[in-house]
Amino acid sequence: MAVVAPAPAVSAFLEALPKRLLIGGEWKDAASGRTFDTINPATGERLATVAEAGPEDVDAAVTAARKAYDGPWRKLRPSERARLLWRLADAVNAHEEELAQLETLDNGKPVRESKIDIRGVAEHFRYHAGWCSKLQGTTIPVSLPGTYLNYTVREPVGVVGAIVPWNFPLLIATWKLAPALACGNTVVLKPAHETPLTALRLGELAIEVGFPPGVLNVIPGLGSTAGAALAAHPGVDKVAFTGSTEVGREIIRASAGNLKRVSLELGGKSPNIVFADADLPAAVKGAFNAIFFNQGQMCSAGSRLFVARSVYEEFLNQLSEQAGKIRQGPGLDPETQMGPLISAVQLKRVQGFIDTGRREGAVLRAGGERATGDLARGFFIQPTVFADAKDDMTVVRDEIFGPVVVAMPFEELDEVIARANATAYGLAAGVWTRDLKTAHRVAAGIRAGTLWVNCYNLIDPASPWGGYKESGYGRDMGDAALHEYTEIKNVLINLG
Ligand code: NAD
Repeated sequence: MAVVAPAPAVSAFLEALPKRLLIGGEWKDAASGRTFDTINPATGERLATVAEAGPEDVDAAVTAARKAYDGPWRKLRPSERARLLWRLADAVNAHEEELAQLETLDNGKPVRESKIDIRGVAEHFRYHAGWCSKLQGTTIPVSLPGTYLNYTVREPVGVVGAIVPWNFPLLIATWKLAPALACGNTVVLKPAHETPLTALRLGELAIEVGFPPGVLNVIPGLGSTAGAALAAHPGVDKVAFTGSTEVGREIIRASAGNLKRVSLELGGKSPNIVFADADLPAAVKGAFNAIFFNQGQMCSAGSRLFVARSVYEEFLNQLSEQAGKIRQGPGLDPETQMGPLISAVQLKRVQGFIDTGRREGAVLRAGGERATGDLARGFFIQPTVFADAKDDMTVVRDEIFGPVVVAMPFEELDEVIARANATAYGLAAGVWTRDLKTAHRVAAGIRAGTLWVNCYNLIDPASPWGGYKESGYGRDMGDAALHEYTEIKNVLINLG
């Protein structure tokens, strides 16, 4: 295992810890004085100590966000908001190496993948910067007797609470921040307690590029305290949440007090369907990335793999062989293809699912064990392929959120569509075929927010992202996101 030292800027950032909470443009200790440790998942060792926000800090951050919303932020012209978002995107690009290393140390993912995330962050800010000056209303004809001018305007919702997970820490935070800020809202961001570092660094960059104090507040803390307080706070107008379906339900309950707007990007158990006429090497590569990218810790992971029976054995042989060759290691090592899981808790959870899969009779074709040697210190699990799973097995029904794919053969199109839809989730799906008719029939038949044809996990800032069914509601990205962060006001003027 190569030991790779972080860049000097990363070490300097870590040494300046314990980082404080960003509230109203100032760095503050938690009101309680409490801190928590964030762990390097590659080693299981403490990486940094971070101030832990509690309800009092949430309250202070919401108050600061409201003050900024009512004050300087509302007065900025759209083009000035856009310029700030562009400047933030430029700053993110300029600090790509540093942010990527921080993300890798905190989350575990290979630094190559962290760089993809960080470039994505900049692109999402730029995409939404373009919308600042294009948030138009409509002029509506009136059929009432008399003469009127009737129009709509789109106004920001107000103060947004963004609660995000640890799997793409800065990228998913940006899916909320970019449209929220573009639409003129202010934000209180609560990163996952496992991965608070890049959000804190982004807070520093936002101040450096000139965002007014209180427009972006960053308050790391636990979900059960800081997250719950933010979701329930009467001063928050909207909660934008990405995380588990279970916590999504709690967010809805917490939001009921002031009927705040809620958007939820939740779990998934996405089907990836390979037809016999597919370009098989491309489909094997696609299925591999669909489940093993980011250690399988993806809401959209192609975790249920349906393969046409005539190519099933050949496909599984190739996939299992490639899974067995993945090089695992610490994310900072440039040779690493797969990092550790996020935490000891997640490792135990994934191991539990693997044990259950074996017990229920799925056939293990690759992986299934913790990594050994030097890697045993960290939270590494081998990329795992189960074959001959049955639709009613736990490993087929439940979201595992790890590098575990369950493969099943299928016979025909209508059957596989029905089986693909037999899930509580509806986030994403993939289909591999050379036949246009097959592709379109699957695209029309699958109940999910995203359908990839001959590709997987490609996410563009202009495309809407979100789920059907228990994968949540609302959309991140694209123009669809603008609806989540604006209210529509109708103005009817009597000209008679
Ligand atoms: P999680 O639900 O445990 O936590 C997500 C966030 O919610 C964290 O910031 C956490 O601190 C906070 N939280 C926890 N309990 C809370 C509460 N009671 N009130 C308010 N906030 C609370 O999820 P996780 O383990 O961090 O992430 C994994 C889950 O996220 C998976 O289910 C995955 O599918 C889902 N996810 C979905 C998407 C998507 O776009 N649909 C993307 C990434 C992850």
